[in-house]
Parts: sequence; C-alpha cells; structure tokens
Amino acid sequence: MLEINKNFCISCGLCISVCPAGAITLEYEKATINKNLCTLCYRCLEVCPRGAIREEVKVSGIAEVGRSLEDMRRRMEILKNRLKAFEKKRHLKVLK
Ligand code: SF4
Ligand code: SF4
Repeated sequence: MLEINKNFCISCGLCISVCPAGAITLEYEKATINKNLCTLCYRCLEVCPRGAIREEVKVSGIAEVGRSLEDMRRRMEILKNRLKAFEKKRHLKVLK
C-alpha cells in the first residue's frame, strides 16, 4: 500500500491531477490516499516532486516474502516501461 509522508507533502496537487481513480484528496492541506479506491498504478508516486509518496510492504512469513518480491518485480517492470515511453517521447520532441 502507498503511504504519504505528510511532513514532505507541499500540497501541490500533482498527485491528485494524475490519479485515474480519484483516490487522492487534500485533507488539512496534505494529500491523503483512499486505499479502497487506489489501484496501485503508481502515477502519483512518479510525479510527486517531494518524494512524499512511498510504498510500504509488510511481510510476516517466508511465503509472503516471495510474493512481495514478485509484486515488486512486476511494479518495477511497469515503471521501467513508463520510463521508456517517456524517454521515447522526449527523444521524438528533440528530433522535431
Ligand atoms: S504530489 Fe507530493 S507534494 Fe504534491 S500534493 Fe501530492 S503528495 Fe503532496
Ligand atoms: S497509485 Fe494510482 S490509483 Fe493509487 S493513489 Fe496513486 S495515482 Fe491513484
């Protein structure tokens, strides 16, 4: 699950603007994630200029460690593909 470190949040609203699930709101001028709505797409994590959004992984047994590692590998793949797409777009802009 994603967590927001409220000490780092500067209420810029970027995470809210990119969240496709409408899962983030500002409460007392700090971003808050509704975990019931969050689909773990990681867009908010990518855009936060303060690095305030992090993923907390809790494991309590060896089987869970394996599952968590597999989840992390899958997420890294998603982020890697997004970064590749971003780099490609940037490259195309430079060529224009
Ligand atoms: S993007 Fe980061 S700093 Fe901006 S509102 Fe969201 S959590 Fe706070
Ligand atoms: S991970 Fe995706 S769905 Fe979840 S709060 Fe962030 S942007 Fe919204």
